[in-house]
Amino acid sequence: MKLFAGQPGWTARADVIVIGSGVAGLTTALNARAANLSVLLVTKSTIDEGSTKWAQGGIAAALGPGDSPDQHKEDTLIAGAGLCDLEAVNVLVTEGPEAVRKLIAHGAVFDKAETGEIALTREGGHHRNRILHAGGDATGAEVSRALLAAVHDDPGIEIIEHALVIDALHSESGRICGVLLHVIGEGSSTGVGRALARAVVIATGGLGQVYSQTTNPSVSTGDGVAMALRAGAAVADVEFIQFHPTVLWRDSSQGGQQPLISEAVRGEGAILLNHKGERFMQNLHEQADLAPRDIVAKAIFGQMKEALVPHVWLDATGIAEFPERFPTIFASCLANGIDPQRQFIPVSPASHYASGGVLVDLNGESSVPGLYICGESACTGAHGANRLASNSLLEGLVFGARISEHIAQNLPEQLEPELGGSDHPEESILLDPSTRIPLQLAMSEGVGVMRSEKSLKTALTTLQRLSTHRTMTPGVAAWEATNLYFLAMAIVRSALERRESRGSHWRMDYPETDQKWERRIIQHLDRAGDWSSTTVDVNS
Ligand SMILES: Cc1cc2nc3c(=O)[nH]c(=O)nc-3n(C[C@H](O)[C@H](O)[C@H](O)COP(=O)(O)OP(=O)(O)OC[C@H]3O[C@@H](n4cnc5c(N)ncnc54)[C@H](O)[C@@H]3O)c2cc1C
Repeated sequence: MKLFAGQPGWTARADVIVIGSGVAGLTTALNARAANLSVLLVTKSTIDEGSTKWAQGGIAAALGPGDSPDQHKEDTLIAGAGLCDLEAVNVLVTEGPEAVRKLIAHGAVFDKAETGEIALTREGGHHRNRILHAGGDATGAEVSRALLAAVHDDPGIEIIEHALVIDALHSESGRICGVLLHVIGEGSSTGVGRALARAVVIATGGLGQVYSQTTNPSVSTGDGVAMALRAGAAVADVEFIQFHPTVLWRDSSQGGQQPLISEAVRGEGAILLNHKGERFMQNLHEQADLAPRDIVAKAIFGQMKEALVPHVWLDATGIAEFPERFPTIFASCLANGIDPQRQFIPVSPASHYASGGVLVDLNGESSVPGLYICGESACTGAHGANRLASNSLLEGLVFGARISEHIAQNLPEQLEPELGGSDHPEESILLDPSTRIPLQLAMSEGVGVMRSEKSLKTALTTLQRLSTHRTMTPGVAAWEATNLYFLAMAIVRSALERRESRGSHWRMDYPETDQKWERRIIQHLDRAGDWSSTTVDVNS
C-alpha cells in the first residue's frame, strides 16, 4: 500500500539514503561515511529541525564515579516495566559511554562542574547523577550543532532539505531499493522524485503530532513509521506513548508544540503542588517528584480530574540562579508572562515520546530487508513500556553507529532495480488534510494519559469515519494527515488489545499490571490496508 502521489520526474542515487537530520540520522550518516559509503541525507524542513534540537535535559550515560552500565540498566528496566528487551538495553548502556565520547570527539561541548569534569545531573527514574547537559538546558541544540558541523564538513554527504519522503520503493526480491520523495515548494507533480540506494535508513523521529498537544515540533508526524508500515514492516509497543508530566500550560485552545519544563528542574529541587498548594507526589512514590514520568503524569492527571482544573503548579522559586541553569525554560516562561523565580509555573501533561515504533533487531534492521530504522522511529526494545529520561538521544547515538556498521558489512554488491508496475491506484490512499485536527482531538480525548475501552472505541469510531474523507490531490498536508491516520490506528488498536495498565499505558478499566501481558503487541498492515496483530514474549 502506498500514498497517492505524482509520478517521479527525477532520480538521485547514493549507497545509503538517510531520512531525517536529528541525532539518529546525523549519527548514522557520519558513521556510514566512516565506512566510506556515499550518503544522501533527506530532511523534511531545514536541516536543524526535529525533536533533537529541542531536547533540554540531556543524555544519560554511566560516566560518573561509582556509576556503571549495570546500574544504568537497572534503572532502564524499572522504567520499562517488564517489557524491555534485555539485549537491547545491554547494548544501550554498555555502548552508551563510548558513543558519548565519540560525540564529544565530534565537538559537542557539555557543561562542566567546578572541578573541570563534565557535570552530571539526575532526572526522574535515575538513581545516579548520570545526565550530561549542555548550555544548561539546551543539550539537544548543542548535540545538533556538533553533528551538523561534522556533516557539513563531509563532501560525501549530499543533503536535500525541504524534501518529504513519501514511501519506500521495493525491488523484485522484496528488498528496499529507494524512496519516493517530494521537494516541498516544487509543485505536487514536478517536485516528486525517486532516490535509489542499496540501503535506506528511516530516522524521522517521533509522532507527537498525532495528539493535539505535544512537546514535539511540527515535523514529528511519524511519516517514517507510517511509511515502514505500508512497506510491510512491523510496528511494536506503539501503545506506549510517554506523556511528559510538566509542559507549560498556556490555555486549552493552544494546539501543536507546547513549551517543555524539563524534569531537570525537579532534579534541581522544584516541587509539584496541587490547586490547594499541597505536595502530592511524596505519598505516591519513593522518588516523590522525581518518580518515573508515567507515575508523575498520572498523578497530575488525577489531581486535574479531581479538582476539575486544567493544570497543577510547579514551584521552582527555590532554585538559585534559575535563569543561568535553565535559560531556555526561563525565556519560555517569561514569554508566557511567568517569572519562575517568583511565581509558580502552571503545568500539565502532553504527548512527548513514542517508546515503540518500527520493530528492529539489534542492528536496527526491520523485517523488510534493506530497511533500517534509527532513533525515536524505531522500536529496539530498549525502552519497553516506558522510556527512562534522557535515554533517547543516547539510543540515536548508539544504534546509529550499529546500523552503519551493519550496512557497511552487508550491503549488496549492486543496487537492485525497482520493481516495475507496482503502483496500483486501488492500493493507494490519501486522506483530506481537514481530517488532521479532528484526528488529533480524538486521540487526545480518548487515547491520552488514561484510557478505557469506551474512550478507545470512541476514538476508533472517529478514525474510521475520518478514513472515508479521501482526496485525489497529493501534497504535504494530505501526506502528513494520512500518515497520522495510520499511526493513530496502530496506537488505538494496540491500546484496545492491551487489557492491563503498564508503563505509560494506563487503562482505567484494567488498572492492574497483568503478568500474562508481559508480551509485546506487534502489528502489520497488508497491501489491501487490512491490519493484523500478534503478541510475543519479549525475551523469549
Ligand atoms: C521538547 C523535547 C525535549 C526532549 N528532551 C530530551 C532529553 O533531554 N534527553 C533525551 O534523551 N531526549 C529528549 N527528548 C527526546 C529526543 O529529543 C528525541 O527522542 C530524539 O531527539 C529523536 O531523535 P531522532 O533523530 O530520532 O528524531 P528527530 O530529532 O525528531 O529528527 C527527525 C528528522 O526527520 C525529519 N523528517 C520527518 N519526517 C520526514 C519525512 N517524511 N521526510 C524527510 N524527513 C523527515 C525531520 O525533519 C527531522 O529532521 C526530548 C524531546 C522533546 C520534543
